[in-house]
Amino acid sequence: MINENKTLKKFIGLEKELIYKKAFGSLLGVAFGDAMGMPTSLMSPLEIKKVFPQRITKLLPAPKGHFIHNGLIAGEITDDTQQTLLLADLFIEEKKFSRMGVAKKLLEWAKSLDAFKSMLLGPSSLRALKMIDEGVSLDETGRIGDTNGAAMKIAPVGIAHPGDYDAVVKDVAEICVPTHNTNIAIAGASAVACAVASGMVNKELDGLVEAFYYGAEEGMKLGNQWYGASIQKRTELALKIVRSGKKEEEIWQDLYDYVGAGIAMSESVPTSLALVVYYNGNPIKTAEAAANMGGDCDTVGAIAGGMAGAYSGYEIFPQEIIDQLSLVNNVDFNLYAKRMTDAIFS
Ligand SMILES: [Mg+2]
Repeated sequence: MINENKTLKKFIGLEKELIYKKAFGSLLGVAFGDAMGMPTSLMSPLEIKKVFPQRITKLLPAPKGHFIHNGLIAGEITDDTQQTLLLADLFIEEKKFSRMGVAKKLLEWAKSLDAFKSMLLGPSSLRALKMIDEGVSLDETGRIGDTNGAAMKIAPVGIAHPGDYDAVVKDVAEICVPTHNTNIAIAGASAVACAVASGMVNKELDGLVEAFYYGAEEGMKLGNQWYGASIQKRTELALKIVRSGKKEEEIWQDLYDYVGAGIAMSESVPTSLALVVYYNGNPIKTAEAAANMGGDCDTVGAIAGGMAGAYSGYEIFPQEIIDQLSLVNNVDFNLYAKRMTDAIFS
């Protein structure tokens, strides 16, 4: 595959503004998708219809009694964005992603939220972080981690390496060592991060889809061999569904039924890519679909939003949404994008 980063480096002065716009877009895409999917997270389509009879089209609070997100207000992000920002912090501080750095950041964050005693963490991260806390070697802690936590946080790796897919896959594998060191997890996270890296430099969605497949293929060669449905073949199926010509809500249902939107890597990652394609890389629309579709809504929203936001850039987000996300979560996403951009060009 052509290494588009070589072209980028030649035009370094001209491209910095573009990289910043795309980095900001990707981070906002993760946060908006996460916050839109937060109220319906881990609910079935039927349950969503019961609790939210009207289609969800804006940021809402969690419904009373939600078993993970009870009490969260409209616009609040969850672990998906929090872990994404941890990786962004790591890159800003160290200009690279090391397994030790990732393990340290994740463990500090989990402990600060008392996450071992709550429902906050996914199964792979919970198991691995407990082992890391007990002093088990990082070579062991991620041995069977295969769920979508590896993909939900991975956008900063794509942002850090615009158009450089081999660098992306290498860093994804390093980041996955502590918690998600299986070929399935590395493949799913590499596919997403390569799509982000493509969105940072490409104007065509075809290039993003090609980069996604490249990441999945290369990622499958790395980590511990583990079982699971093929990410590429599930993606072929997901793309067939969004190109079927059916009505929007039938497409959501078909994605949910045939490909899945659950915590398995081979469900949520192909479905997320299919939403990006269906909505022509619009992160507002991918987030709305993820929130209404059912399943791991916040994570599908975050994964699709990270890819679509890199592709579209931040200007697609209305200023009120940017302000709401920043204010409610006390996070300056704009500053994150600026600092990441500075780190890339330093
Ligand atoms: Mg979450």
